[in-house]
Amino acid sequence: MTLKIYDTLTRRKEAFKPISGNRVYMFVCGPTLYDYSHLGHARTYVAFDVIARYLRYKGYTLFYLMNITDVEDRIIQRAEMTNRDPVELAKTLETTFHRDMKALRMNSVNLYARASEHMPEILDQIKRLIEKGYAYETKTGIYYDLARFEDFGELSHQKLDEVKKHRIDPDPTKKNPQDFTLWKKKETGPLWDSPWGKGRPGWHIEDTAISELYLGEQYDIHGGGIDLIFPHHESEIVQMESLSGKKPMARNWLHTGLLMISGERMGKSMGNSVTIADALEDYEAEVLRFFFASTHYRSPIDYTKDKLEQAKNSLETLYTALYNIKRLQTKEEKQLTDEEKKLRKELRETERKFLKAMDDDFNTPIAISHLFDMAKKINIFTAEDGIVDKKLLGEIVNSFKELGGILGVLQREKESVEEELIEKLMDLVIELRREFRNRENFAVSDRIREELRRLGITLEDTPDGMKWRKH
Ligand code: AMP
Repeated sequence: MTLKIYDTLTRRKEAFKPISGNRVYMFVCGPTLYDYSHLGHARTYVAFDVIARYLRYKGYTLFYLMNITDVEDRIIQRAEMTNRDPVELAKTLETTFHRDMKALRMNSVNLYARASEHMPEILDQIKRLIEKGYAYETKTGIYYDLARFEDFGELSHQKLDEVKKHRIDPDPTKKNPQDFTLWKKKETGPLWDSPWGKGRPGWHIEDTAISELYLGEQYDIHGGGIDLIFPHHESEIVQMESLSGKKPMARNWLHTGLLMISGERMGKSMGNSVTIADALEDYEAEVLRFFFASTHYRSPIDYTKDKLEQAKNSLETLYTALYNIKRLQTKEEKQLTDEEKKLRKELRETERKFLKAMDDDFNTPIAISHLFDMAKKINIFTAEDGIVDKKLLGEIVNSFKELGGILGVLQREKESVEEELIEKLMDLVIELRREFRNRENFAVSDRIREELRRLGITLEDTPDGMKWRKH
């Protein structure tokens, strides 16, 4: 099946064709280290983690690069406000960022690259831009001369004149108010030497210096939140394509919809953010990932507690179906029963539909809906049959683990230990209930059945004795 990906640049779903055959090079904008990572970041990074997992699942050899913005004015401002050293602030926040990513089971990035460790590449790009006549110097710094770049605005679909209206010009000696900074001449804060005096790089040049070093002038995927399209990604295109003379810098531009809270974007500067660490106190990582994956990566998500609870319950529904079938007695016979054959066919259909949805611009909500359909079929099977073919059971469990693994869910490790304990406790409850019945104490035995029902457990009299299942 062909993977189709929506490209922000062309505004169309395009068949995915990596530049170098089976190798895929992906760059995703990393965090700016001035505050703790929040669920908005998690939304974007989980989306790209799923995309990376799926590309690898499809057999691509993916190199996934993420930059770390540890040099930026916002970090310095925050450090000043809180009386901290900016370098130390960024270091601390980088440690917590990696801790949060690990807790969210994000393991698909091959290389994290800090801006502060790529100053030679940044300076080199600025020098080349000046040499080629795309950049110029003023008293305050080095600027990109936007009048020189014809295709400006192709990603955000806006014209230079429109941008002009929105920019407030801090340096009247610039050629055009909308010319953006490549190098800021500074006297205080963390400083680096440059041919133009001490200072710091602009945000956009940090990213192209890093991507050019590791991925080259042109690569396959560039991603980030939708808020980065302008001016950040637009400026990256301007810089890189001016240097290389090649278009496009990235074959596919992917942008995630924003996580919203009470109608506003969740953001560090908005003062409405829920940190990843706080969210993980209340919900396990799989629930957060399932919550994000339940919406398409390009759509915005409204963050509410109710929706998180819903995600938790929905995920539990999938686990329950697996749990129910794993509890059946198993047999090993050459022939499957008709019901088993039907179930196996439905499993293959589910896999096919799941992957088809993922091939359609990583449509995770549709993919998940096929897992739910399959869970329903498993529940019908387990309600009717007390026994299942061992191989078929293995196939179902593996398939759920494998497909769930693309989304980073259905991987609970403790599952089997807890299951075993629950099995034993339920055997005990059923045994006690039988004793009460034998002694004609129907009041207590009925009460046990009723209380179990309230806990979501149904007791059933079968020819093989009393059985239980979750409903
Ligand atoms: P920042 O640290 O603000 O530069 O953001 C790092 C990444 O997280 C960028 O790709 C942003 O687009 C993304 N991001 C920040 N806030 C949100 C949000 N509320 N929803 C989705 N993505 C976000």
